[in-house]
Amino acid sequence: MPLQGWKTELARFGLLLGIAAFFGLILDFLLWFLFGTALAYALWSLNQLRQLNRWLYRGAGRDEPPEAAGLWGQVFDTLSQIQRETQKVNARLQADIEHLRASFASMADAVVMLSPDGSIEWANRAAHTLLGLRHPDDNGRLLVNLLRAPDFIAYFESWDYGERFQMASPVNGQVRLSVSVSVFGRDNRLLFARDITRTVQLEQMRKDFVANVSHELRTPLTVINGYVEMLADQAEADTPAARAFEQMTSQSRRMQNLINDLMTLSRLESLPSGRQDDLVAVNGLMEGLREEIAAAATGERTVEVHCDETLRLMGDSKEIQSAFSNLAVNAARYTRDGDTITLRWYADRDHAYFEVEDTGIGIEPQHLPRLTERFYRVDQSRATTTGGTGLGLAIVKHILIRHHGELRIRSNPGKGSRFTCIFPISATQRRDV
Ligand code: ADP
Repeated sequence: MPLQGWKTELARFGLLLGIAAFFGLILDFLLWFLFGTALAYALWSLNQLRQLNRWLYRGAGRDEPPEAAGLWGQVFDTLSQIQRETQKVNARLQADIEHLRASFASMADAVVMLSPDGSIEWANRAAHTLLGLRHPDDNGRLLVNLLRAPDFIAYFESWDYGERFQMASPVNGQVRLSVSVSVFGRDNRLLFARDITRTVQLEQMRKDFVANVSHELRTPLTVINGYVEMLADQAEADTPAARAFEQMTSQSRRMQNLINDLMTLSRLESLPSGRQDDLVAVNGLMEGLREEIAAAATGERTVEVHCDETLRLMGDSKEIQSAFSNLAVNAARYTRDGDTITLRWYADRDHAYFEVEDTGIGIEPQHLPRLTERFYRVDQSRATTTGGTGLGLAIVKHILIRHHGELRIRSNPGKGSRFTCIFPISATQRRDV
């Protein structure tokens, strides 16, 4: 079609020149006629160009395109059609945006759209109630000038939004918010804030409940334990009563261990990170762990120790001791007579590692992701015989989180396991030798 119009126009121009040549030859003014016709055609084309320019300038699409014949008419029509289609697409996009905004506006979560420099482009109603941001009054203002909590500013400016961020609502300090940010387009950001006050309260109630129950049970249990042990001492050996007291002693000890572990977990959950500035000499700890392994194991274990003696760990010494000891005692419990347990403490450029490796019974891969859950046990019956509470690894995980570390577990069923506590290198110090 475009080629067609162009050919017609060319033919028309040729015809005009032909007619001019015909009359020019008759009247003996060939060059003048040709020149005059070409000039007239150029002036007509210029006029069409002027009209096109005026039409575009006035905002093509609002008025009908100028009337023109031939190729120019085709150009006007094509442009006008493109313009109409663009308008339709724009209208559809606008409708989509409005629809999206309307659904965001009705959300109970606060939604704030931000331009690349961090200024507010749009915010919904909930952003007003939860964050105190007003739309459209606050549009164009920098978000960090309106939400000024230093922790929030650090999170917002970090551009690392892998994890959600929790903060108090600037409108009402009692309201807890969970904030997430996602990046879209060219560094535009979308901020969501959700009211999680109720969830936080429920979580707190759960923690308080466990802490209170454990605390209330501890004293009566200590008393019972004391009497049972006393009675067990007095019972005549090898009588049914002695065996009953022995059972009672072991069960009440289990309960005591359970309550102690529950209280430890509650404390770890509820208190802010403890003193993180003890300098722990891990090589000193290793000797204690060797003894704990010997005490917890039934039968012989070979314990090997590989320790970077100059490397010290910064943190809460009691918590670190408790985490390492849990891992060492587990290694003793889940190994057999003659197995080897290896304790390692070393570092590379970025991390420091405390590792407990054993040649024990190992763990099937499907259990590995759930091992650090409370009361999760690979084998319930085995846990009863080993005297475990099912809380040991949950405690280890919590302690590591408080020290910005993590727990890595590798295991081969029947061959053994390796539990590695990974700490950031910034949590260590070198002692001069
Ligand atoms: P428990 O008090 O039962 O040992 P933990 O939280 O310490 O509870 O461990 C959870 C489960 O992980 C244990 O019940 C056991 O099945 C498994 N486990 C822990 N350490 C080892 C290990 N070194 N070798 C094999 N299994 C282990």
